[in-house]
Amino acid sequence: MSSKITLVVATANKGKLREFSSIFAELPVQIVPVAEIVPSAPSVVEDGVTFEQNAKKKGAFAAGLTMMLTLADDSGLEVDALGGRPGVRSARFAGEHATDAENNAALLDALTEVDEDARTARFRCVLSLHDPWAPADQPPILAEGACEGRIAREGRGTGGFGYDPLFLVTEKGGRAMAELSDAEKNEVSHRGRAARALLPHLSRVVTQRLLDVERISRRRPSLLDK
Ligand code: IMP
Repeated sequence: MSSKITLVVATANKGKLREFSSIFAELPVQIVPVAEIVPSAPSVVEDGVTFEQNAKKKGAFAAGLTMMLTLADDSGLEVDALGGRPGVRSARFAGEHATDAENNAALLDALTEVDEDARTARFRCVLSLHDPWAPADQPPILAEGACEGRIAREGRGTGGFGYDPLFLVTEKGGRAMAELSDAEKNEVSHRGRAARALLPHLSRVVTQRLLDVERISRRRPSLLDK
């Protein structure tokens, strides 16, 4: 009998998957991207105006498709001088299907005329945990996190993904997010903070699921031996 619960993550972003695997390393969960369970899964149209709306939409869709415990993340960068943009459009700032390098170049372009003092920004993340076997009126469990910083004039570092080379982390003395080790990033990042806020809830759901599996296997061992 398996002593781990599969946790489907509603993303194909390898950077996010790596971070979740490290942040939830202590829990008896196996992190699996949704495409590994349903290879033909269509991607969800992220048309929400808030991170919360998009996280809930991605999570509900993937949980309905897989019928497994599912975690969704919606995150992005809010730049004060751009009125909070790119925000929910962070992945598509330079256009649909833009690469990280294209988005970073577009961000530097948009901020050419902006002075050092006004280059403040923050990463935000909303996580949404969906249990497809819970009563229909039970909402997903939400958690959020933020990380304050400023936008550099050129990229630094090779770690992380997305805007990490351009994001200077206030709590790390202005080092770029991409210059931090994985552990240092998880300690201060929006995703690390949201994941730690979710941890007790996720732990409770996973423990309950494992107890249920054990109870069933004691009653009907033949069902699970196969
Ligand atoms: P999502 O898949 O719609 O949540 O898009 C998130 C986008 O926000 C990513 O493609 C990145 O551009 C940006 N982003 C989110 N989290 C991070 C991070 O930890 N580092 C750098 N960029 C991030």
